[in-house]
Amino acid sequence: MFDASLVYFVGAGPGDPELITLKGYKILSQADVVIYAGSLINKELLEYCKDGAECHDSAYLHLDQITELMVNGVKNGKLVVRLQTGDLSLYGSIREQGEELAKHNIGFRSVAGVSSFLGAASELGIEYTVPEVSQSLVITRMAGRTPTPELESIERFAAHQTSMAIFLSVQGINQVIAQLSKGGYPDDTPVAVVYKATWEDCQIIRGDLTTIADKVTKAGIRKTALILVGKFLGEEYHYSKLYDAEFSHEYR
Ligand code: SAH
Repeated sequence: MFDASLVYFVGAGPGDPELITLKGYKILSQADVVIYAGSLINKELLEYCKDGAECHDSAYLHLDQITELMVNGVKNGKLVVRLQTGDLSLYGSIREQGEELAKHNIGFRSVAGVSSFLGAASELGIEYTVPEVSQSLVITRMAGRTPTPELESIERFAAHQTSMAIFLSVQGINQVIAQLSKGGYPDDTPVAVVYKATWEDCQIIRGDLTTIADKVTKAGIRKTALILVGKFLGEEYHYSKLYDAEFSHEYR
């Protein structure tokens, strides 16, 4: 049973309505009030809601209005769900929503979701970590209306030449690529831009640092896409030790 004195923040997953968690599905199907991030989540998810559930698209609302809907719902004994794209822990702005709820003495619970960088990996059938090629993934964005700390510039991360998943930046692909090159990735570093990962109209554009920006511009992709960069997308590969016959079994 869910506790209607709290607000539930639920990760909706990257798009495919079957990629919400079972827990997310259960709570969504019992919710009385759902406030969903309409510009990114798949509206087919709302078909899981019960008849009579009130659904509000937050694309047209500002923080105060979202808070008011949540607070009124809880005060009226309703089960309130805030449904956001991917997982809540990346660019989710749940902290500020939680702060606003706290002013009304209302708490929240988060239900994890499948982030779009994971949906994109499944779409490509790749691993971000490839033995002896890359063992780390940088998740970042280019500075926009929300600035990024100087130590976290794309250029600085590029110096590591590891796998990168860049959110919220495809509209500035030319700048991103310039910073990646300046930072240290060689020109032939593979890049994939995944638009609407796990949606039916998903598009994948592949290239390298010299070709990708033109291809993405020609395809007209300006939002809902991830820029994935690194040698993990390339040919080089080494078998892991994990299933090596000589290796102990305890991590399999
Ligand atoms: N919390 C979300 C990210 C929200 S920020 C998550 O975990 O995925 C919004 C950005 O996420 C978009 O600008 C885009 O870069 C990325 N994004 C969200 N859904 C996507 C999808 N289905 N395919 C590709 N990128 C997506």
